Amino acid sequence: MDPQIEAYLANYPVTDAAREFLDGPPRMFVDGQFTEGQASGTRAVMEPSTGAPLSGVLLGTPADVDVAVAAARRAFDQGPWPRMAPNERQRILWRLADLVEDHAETLAQIETLDTGKAIGPCREIDILGSADLIRYMAGWATKIEGATRDISAGDYFAYTLKEPIGVVGAITPWNFPFNMAMWKCAAPLAVGCTMVLKTAEVTPLSMQYFCRLAQKAGLPDGVLNVVTGLGATVGAHLSAHPGVDKMSFTGSTVTGMQVGLASVRHFAPVTLELGGKSPMLAFPDADLQTLAEAARWSVFFNTGQNCSAGSRLYLHRDVYEEGVAALTDMLAGLKVCEGLDPACDIGPLVSAEHRQSVARYLQMANADGDVLIGGGLCERPGYFVQPTLVAMSDNRHPLVQEEIFGPVLAVLPFESEDEVVHLANDSVYGLAASVWTADGARAQRVARRIDAGSVWINCHDVGDSAMPFGGCKSSGFGKDLGREQIDHVLRTKAVTMAL
Ligand code: NAD
Repeated sequence: MDPQIEAYLANYPVTDAAREFLDGPPRMFVDGQFTEGQASGTRAVMEPSTGAPLSGVLLGTPADVDVAVAAARRAFDQGPWPRMAPNERQRILWRLADLVEDHAETLAQIETLDTGKAIGPCREIDILGSADLIRYMAGWATKIEGATRDISAGDYFAYTLKEPIGVVGAITPWNFPFNMAMWKCAAPLAVGCTMVLKTAEVTPLSMQYFCRLAQKAGLPDGVLNVVTGLGATVGAHLSAHPGVDKMSFTGSTVTGMQVGLASVRHFAPVTLELGGKSPMLAFPDADLQTLAEAARWSVFFNTGQNCSAGSRLYLHRDVYEEGVAALTDMLAGLKVCEGLDPACDIGPLVSAEHRQSVARYLQMANADGDVLIGGGLCERPGYFVQPTLVAMSDNRHPLVQEEIFGPVLAVLPFESEDEVVHLANDSVYGLAASVWTADGARAQRVARRIDAGSVWINCHDVGDSAMPFGGCKSSGFGKDLGREQIDHVLRTKAVTMAL
């Protein structure tokens, strides 16, 4: 292990299981086996708080995807999983959720070391939230139902069957590696699909550990296959693979378009969970303290690497100064430090490349905006940047239009309801939004007028396994979570029998 990583770990109660895992070699998980497959090599996985090498990721190849898809196909066509009694499948998923809970500390530590994120929220939201999601989706296993139809065509018995869609391909991003993978896996597995999942190349570790738990829970071989490698090779091959019956992608809008086109070429339906630049709209009667706290848990949560971050705030002119003061107070209280520190609010960004990208936006903020707090890089090892609040006036500026994916909040004033609805909708994205007002009628009116997949009223980023999540416009289409996701992984067969 790298001496810098050793020194970092020495300060915290890292579990034996996490240490043992980190000392092990990188692997893919195919057909129930941990394997090197036909990888072309290994790439270093860096620890973001130190910038030192932590582990490695196998650079899988298209041949590895072929083997994984064939395993998933066999498991779907011949294996027990889709044929299993729903309550038995459900029991295995409950066991898996229990194992995630039992290993929550180890999983959280691995995830924090891989991504840099703060350990507290990582444990609660990324890991334990995922256990909750597995249980929620397991509940659907026993509630799949078609319908009988009283048809006019004649003397027939007509009904619909709901069947698992088949082999699901999934590709996940680096910002919530474990949680996003669970968003992708829990629903397909619950209904009897089999899967091939590709993790992001910068953050492969937690899913490798999870595969041990899947084995232990009794998931049959080939039901869940996890491949690693670069997007342009492994990801592109998976999304274009004719053996995949349904694709589910979470990541950037640019990649999402490529995945969407590749999937449609072989007629696989696709879910695209893409980027966002979600507005928060605060009217004069908004509770500004609650708003500041919500901003902390959306745009500064996960160091701003959050797709639904409320990263542009429209504050009514009457409460503009007061709102900015509440935000600067909140920001001044945030602790920026290494992710394993239990007091960490803001950890480093995920990679040196991403830090460079956020740094470019910070330069723009200093050049074209009025930086109210933050605005720079942190002078310390690792990929840290300062949480930043910047006052802007031009709604078309890249700081207000583009997804920065860092701890940067742009604030703009407005005067009327029509104006702020126009400003909020003036975006290529449509992932999420929040409306802040004590006036219930106004909240309802504005919520209806906003183009977004999720609208929160007097809160932001409140997620739940039961609530569908997914955007419109360049934020993609289709839903993860909720019963809506179950519909995406079932196909409907219409059966008509002459009587
Ligand atoms: P990314 O698009 O660069 O990568 C996402 C995944 O796609 C990675 O696994 C990558 O290897 C793979 N990939 C890259 N090129 C590919 C190709 N040509 N074909 C197939 N796969 C390819 O995104 P990222 O930088 O990892 O993640 C950040 C983005 O994810 C942000 O835009 C964020 O908003 C978005 N995101 C969206 C949601 C949501 O639910 N809407 C949730 C989390 C993150």
